Amino acid sequence: MSDLQKYLRPEIVGMAPYKPGEQPGAAKVIKLNTNENPYPPSPKVHEAIVQSTERLERYPDPLATSFRIVAADVLGVTPDHILCGNGSDDILTILTRAFVGHSQMLRLPFPSYILYRTLAHIQGAGFEEIRFAPDFQLAPEFFKPSDGLKLVFLPNPNSPSGTMIDHDAILRLASVLDCPIVVDEAYVDFAPSTAVGLIAKDPRIMVTRTLSKSYGLAALRFGYLVAHPQMIGFLRKVKDSYNTDSISIAGATAAMSDQTWLRENVAKIIATRSRMIHKLRSLGFDVTESHANFAWATRSDRPVFPIYEKLKAQGILVRYMDYTQSIAGAWGDGLRISVGTDGEIDAMLMVLESALRG
Ligand SMILES: *Cc1c(COP(=O)(O)O)cnc(C)c1O
Repeated sequence: MSDLQKYLRPEIVGMAPYKPGEQPGAAKVIKLNTNENPYPPSPKVHEAIVQSTERLERYPDPLATSFRIVAADVLGVTPDHILCGNGSDDILTILTRAFVGHSQMLRLPFPSYILYRTLAHIQGAGFEEIRFAPDFQLAPEFFKPSDGLKLVFLPNPNSPSGTMIDHDAILRLASVLDCPIVVDEAYVDFAPSTAVGLIAKDPRIMVTRTLSKSYGLAALRFGYLVAHPQMIGFLRKVKDSYNTDSISIAGATAAMSDQTWLRENVAKIIATRSRMIHKLRSLGFDVTESHANFAWATRSDRPVFPIYEKLKAQGILVRYMDYTQSIAGAWGDGLRISVGTDGEIDAMLMVLESALRG
């Protein structure tokens, strides 16, 4: 067994695998740990998917043009500003492959989305993880140029904090760093503003999106990049030829076409989010102002890991995140709680309240 190791690149042997949140088999679990939408997608998605299965013998459209036409219209850009992928994780992989070579550098804020590190590891690249300022804006260090820096990832809204970096800061960053800047907008539909407008101001700014969260389509695997058409042209060379399948293209196109569904769903989740955050604060948690479909709850008076365990024992899964041991310095630990349905959040808050008492 151990002999097989010698055939692998040392980067792969040495790296820790990316750990997705738990996906429990039991149906009874209230799942508030991976920021999925608690509601099913637009009913139009099902219809479109069923229709798409009639031609499974043919390869899909390599550029997912039906989707790009609808998305371009929604975003106010042209279809040649859009590149589609097998989830936005596929887009992030394409970007890392295209811009960051072996031993070169990727920059990201801390704490943020852990997958960026994994992408750097696979590429044999390094990463500079720079701590957020206490208000979750970019620290002055983030603006310092460095040798070998080839790409910046900025999740906005950020996970786990749910906070947003000012767009002025993103433009200022682009003006001082000589590399592309990727704004990961996985949660932007729950937020007040998008960075898509910045692409016209600086073509090195790119925006990634996903249908996994706000559109309720985590299982479909569909994400996309919005960028300058010349950038899209280069990146098409890097992607797998058929990186989105006919079924996901059909489902994603139908979802994007139903903006009424999106608006109603987002409004529901934002209302539940406000109620949840208000209650968490009244129970003594410190909760950052969230612009996403989750909240980041910490406390200074007692450890949160036992609270996480008590919730889990009652069939309620939230995400426990521990930054106390991190190389980037202590950031404490906390619970990242996804916004579920009103019923799920009420059940979670009830168990939480009794866990705090007991
Ligand atoms: C969920 C998430 C993604 C991945 O989305 P997929 O389209 O499901 O791959 C990307 N970035 C961030 C910050 C996320 O939270």
